[in-house]
Amino acid sequence: MTDRALSALLLAALLSVSLPEGPGHATEPVAIGSPAVVAAPMPPRPPSPRLLEPQLHLLPAPDRNRPQVALTLDACMGKTDMRILSVLVAERIPATIFVTARWLRSNPEAVAILRQHPDLFEVENHGANHVPAVDVPTLIYGIASAGSAEAVAQEVIGGNAAIETAGFPKATWFRGSTAKYDPSAIRQIRAMGYRIAGYSLNGDGGSLLGASITEKKIASARDGDVIIAHINQPGHAAGEGVARALSSLKRRGVSFVRLSDVEEIGEAGTSP
Ligand SMILES: [Zn+2]
Repeated sequence: MTDRALSALLLAALLSVSLPEGPGHATEPVAIGSPAVVAAPMPPRPPSPRLLEPQLHLLPAPDRNRPQVALTLDACMGKTDMRILSVLVAERIPATIFVTARWLRSNPEAVAILRQHPDLFEVENHGANHVPAVDVPTLIYGIASAGSAEAVAQEVIGGNAAIETAGFPKATWFRGSTAKYDPSAIRQIRAMGYRIAGYSLNGDGGSLLGASITEKKIASARDGDVIIAHINQPGHAAGEGVARALSSLKRRGVSFVRLSDVEEIGEAGTSP
């Protein structure tokens, strides 16, 4: 059964439940569409979408003594965390940066640094306006989803258009706001020619964790991990932990790769 058929069935089931009997309506069955139904205080809620947060792993490193991890950093909106960006440049650590059109517009200096180091940074698509790529209306962490297939397409197309306008190659990876999707949005984004960037290690808890715990989580990365963290919250303590962990992984001999440099396996048909 398709998801849409399942949703329709659930909705039908919700609509067909008998209403509670009110005073004075002891035995009368209430027909759908009657004034009694129209006046009902709570309309049936549409079923919530099935949301997926797919994992992504790298294939095992060719040399077992040289573990590989991919660092992916989201630039959702707002500013740039130079504590992280300067470590990446100074220590020559490659990374995949997921940018929105919003972030590109307001961070010209950081964009110039990314452009100066194409050997280190690949810039990929985090959407036009940081709207979750879910094609039915819902709230995720309080953020309204795109709500339709057309709005999902706009988010993806608008994100890439801004990337190309800023002088970067066309994006091949997409990561939606909140990293959650519904199955039909995943199929739609794949059909638009993108792989979908899940992750396996949440490094900074949406940039809300403290510096020490962030450092510990990222420094625990193992071969094949795809780390997610944020590069747009210079005022949060987490960024300090990200920067420290990167240096210590480097000292341990971990090899950093970009998503486009290696092969991955993603859940729910997200990659390859
Ligand atoms: Zn984001």
